[in-house]
Amino acid sequence: MNLSRNFTLQELIKSDTAVRLGVDNNPNANQIEKLKLLCENILQPVRDHFGPVMITSGFRTPELCLKIDSSITSQHCKAEAVDFECMGKDNAEVADWIYKNLDFDQMILEFYVPGEPNSGWVHCSYVSEKPRKQFLRAFKEDGKTKYKPIIGKAVDLV
Ligand SMILES: [Zn+2]
Repeated sequence: MNLSRNFTLQELIKSDTAVRLGVDNNPNANQIEKLKLLCENILQPVRDHFGPVMITSGFRTPELCLKIDSSITSQHCKAEAVDFECMGKDNAEVADWIYKNLDFDQMILEFYVPGEPNSGWVHCSYVSEKPRKQFLRAFKEDGKTKYKPIIGKAVDLV
């Protein structure tokens, strides 16, 4: 089943962990509709601009979130968020392009190390009502994950 021109439902729900642990990771009809909006409004425009996109995590059932120590209030559980990278592209450059061109809800440049274009990944969410356009970076400090707003461009981070 295709959600947009270049993205299938399978790519958005695939989880090796779910398979390994025997956890159900199938979305309901309403969640599939939201994944479609996520593809049409975020992933497809990114694909059209940057080329092939590798999705590392899309939809997660609350059960899967519990197994992987992810919050069950995460937008991944609401079928609103996806983690991805674009092959051979700097994650900061991809994030800056999304910030400038798309109506996302929240974008997090996760564990990106300035000067290492392939480090980390981009987390991006979409909601049809009142997107926040919140742009953050996530990093580890003293073993804890911390978040900070990105002011200006991600490619200028030091
Ligand atoms: Zn994520």
